[in-house]
Amino acid sequence: MTRTKLRLAIVGAGPAGIYAADILLKAERNFDVSIDLFDHLPAPYGLVRYGVAPDHPRIKGIITALRDVLDRGDIRIFGNVRFGEDLSLDDLKRHYNAVIFATGAVRDASLTIPGVELEGSYGAADFVSWFDGHPDVPRTWPLEAESVAVIGNGNVALDTARMLAKHVEDLMVTELPANVAAGLAASPVTDVHVFGRRGPTSVKFTPLELRELGELRDVDMIVYDEDFDYDDAARAAVTGNKQVFVIDKVLQQWRQRPVGEASRRLHLHFFAKPLEIVDDGSGRVGGIRYERTAPDGEGGVVGTGEIRELPIQAVYRAVGYFGSPLPGIPFDKKFGVIPNHEGQVLTRDKTTGEARQMYGVYATGWIKRGPVGLIGHTKSDAMETIKHVINDLGNWWTPESPSEESVVELLESRGIAYTDLDGWHRLDQHELSLGEAEGRVRIKVVPRDDMVAISRDEV
Ligand SMILES: Cc1cc2nc3c(=O)[nH]c(=O)nc-3n(C[C@H](O)[C@H](O)[C@H](O)COP(=O)(O)OP(=O)(O)OC[C@H]3O[C@@H](n4cnc5c(N)ncnc54)[C@H](O)[C@@H]3O)c2cc1C
Repeated sequence: MTRTKLRLAIVGAGPAGIYAADILLKAERNFDVSIDLFDHLPAPYGLVRYGVAPDHPRIKGIITALRDVLDRGDIRIFGNVRFGEDLSLDDLKRHYNAVIFATGAVRDASLTIPGVELEGSYGAADFVSWFDGHPDVPRTWPLEAESVAVIGNGNVALDTARMLAKHVEDLMVTELPANVAAGLAASPVTDVHVFGRRGPTSVKFTPLELRELGELRDVDMIVYDEDFDYDDAARAAVTGNKQVFVIDKVLQQWRQRPVGEASRRLHLHFFAKPLEIVDDGSGRVGGIRYERTAPDGEGGVVGTGEIRELPIQAVYRAVGYFGSPLPGIPFDKKFGVIPNHEGQVLTRDKTTGEARQMYGVYATGWIKRGPVGLIGHTKSDAMETIKHVINDLGNWWTPESPSEESVVELLESRGIAYTDLDGWHRLDQHELSLGEAEGRVRIKVVPRDDMVAISRDEV
């Protein structure tokens, strides 16, 4: 008797998709597995390549572990293939027994204050995509402001603030793309102001990210005494939570540090709730209006009615990421995720309105759980999803054309210039050698056409 075989499509070759494939291949199971991993980018690794900042080589190093999984050769990858355009759910049903969506999140969550539409108001996710060399964003970024506001108190806000304040010379050992280096070198910035609604003991960023700011060359860290008048809840947080303890310690040290010599300053404003991005009279950002908040005694904050305004010429909104809907797949508009139970995708029954499992369709990573958490969390996530994929054997799809060749034929018949693992190796080597020539770890190739041409050896 022939053994059952699971032909599995995974859409999204970020950490969640790669971990899911790896976990399934290593799992105890009584069927064979053959996995195809699709990504609309010509290169794998998702936000590890296109989100994690270039000056975080330790985190970028996670790519080595992900590459080891791909290099084993038991997972096929098809880059430059977009689900929803190049492939539909019906196509996947025709060729696979099941699909896992691991499509992450790339967009900025929206911030609804007046003035967000002004010229000079940017989403941090777009800026991150630019400085990490994402192929689908413009090559140039308007770095024209001397004073900049960053709204948010998570790690992405700190990444944004650091990349804006850091001198480009100190980024030149990294894999910073050439166009980004040129853009940052021309930046006239002197002051970066980070705004958080809550106090220093309620931030979302991590101690490591914070401490790093204090190590920037020729950048003064400016914190304000008025933000350190802690109430009981804040004091309890400092003594009761190690992470808060370290954050407080770092900030307290900065309060004592002499400032005034550096050519750039990075200001942290706590208890400051942005109310409006102010028009300079010509449709451009001219300032930020914010309200001073105060602790409400229950760990939150309330407005004090004291309104302040700071002149700035650009605003970066770093208030979180948000998932994108996929054609034919249920989507939760409120939370920006695919509705699911432990990774089993749920759909609403049209007659009863009840949620029921959409057989054969699974989700993992940020599109399953929402855009919070570190790369490591996508591993535990994938374990949960894979457990259900295995247990649902009786409910998988029955594809008409399950052979591995049939998918390749389909992509080729549609003229899709897909990239594969050998192609990725070629692009990887190309980027490493570009970097080596200049004493840098890597120089990323940014234009999509170039990435594809190098991968497909068509240059
Ligand atoms: C700015 C930033 C900095 C971060 N820094 C750190 C850090 O220092 N340390 C840390 O541990 N974590 C960090 N993270 C978090 C980490 O990046 C995420 O936890 C992780 O990448 C989520 O993995 P994922 O696979 O779910 O999504 P992603 O990494 O977003 O991967 C999703 C993949 O799906 C693909 N895709 C999307 N739509 C389609 C489609 N329609 N068709 C085909 N493919 C598609 C995308 O191209 C992408 O490759 C950071 C995140 C951001 C945004």
